[in-house]
Amino acid sequence: MFEFLRVRAQQGTRTSRFPGGGAEFPERFRGRPAFDPAKCAGTCPGCLERMPSDLMTRSADGRVGLDVGACLFAPEEATVCERGAVTFTHDCRMASRSRTGLISRDGEVDLATALDARMRSLFGRSLRLRSVAAGSCNGCEAELVALGNVVFDLARFGVQFVASPRHADGLVITGAVSANMWDAVYRTWEATPAPRLVIAVGACAINGGPFRGSAEVANGVPDDLPVDLWIPGCPPHPLTILDGMLRLLGRLPDAAG
Ligand code: SF4
Repeated sequence: MFEFLRVRAQQGTRTSRFPGGGAEFPERFRGRPAFDPAKCAGTCPGCLERMPSDLMTRSADGRVGLDVGACLFAPEEATVCERGAVTFTHDCRMASRSRTGLISRDGEVDLATALDARMRSLFGRSLRLRSVAAGSCNGCEAELVALGNVVFDLARFGVQFVASPRHADGLVITGAVSANMWDAVYRTWEATPAPRLVIAVGACAINGGPFRGSAEVANGVPDDLPVDLWIPGCPPHPLTILDGMLRLLGRLPDAAG
């Protein structure tokens, strides 16, 4: 008994103080990508083609920007620009309510806003979610599982994963939605009682990720399903997912706080 108490006291509290105490990341952590337009003349030949993802975008007027939803968080995405215009910040917050909210000139995203008052009162500040792996590498699922461990402890915020869509308030979809999973995704969505949420987790679910362009995938959640929350990452850090869900529930300020 005393040994148990000694070990318990020695270990202290392992649960993250996020969102109250912020979050600390190791030096090598790659958070939200940023783009410095001052370092980009927009004239370097082939930089978009050398990029291993669709992170960099070019608008009709030739200006370069970032699509954070397409980011694979690979070191090569930063080094492809020899002028250092692309960098990775230590900011884990990047979930947005809209797909276009992840696209900007400088990499800033429109952070997710809360559901309207009616939806929040229906969900009662809690969420029951059904996870659907629709052709993923399991990286995103590993981070969803990590959300339940003692460090992130998702359940303390009233968010839990359930076994049946009939018991769920919404779906968490991971993976690029392979051809043979589309029917399963749609039927799971239909089986979830309305009003229901759809949360796209990871680059694959947002735009196909590394599988984008394959004839076997739908390049992410198809337009037929209305997505309420887009969470970038490959895979997203558990705090990126948690931050997005708490913003959706109105548990964090709508502004960047
Ligand atoms: S987004 Fe990345 S980690 Fe998640 S399923 Fe796709 S390849 Fe795997």
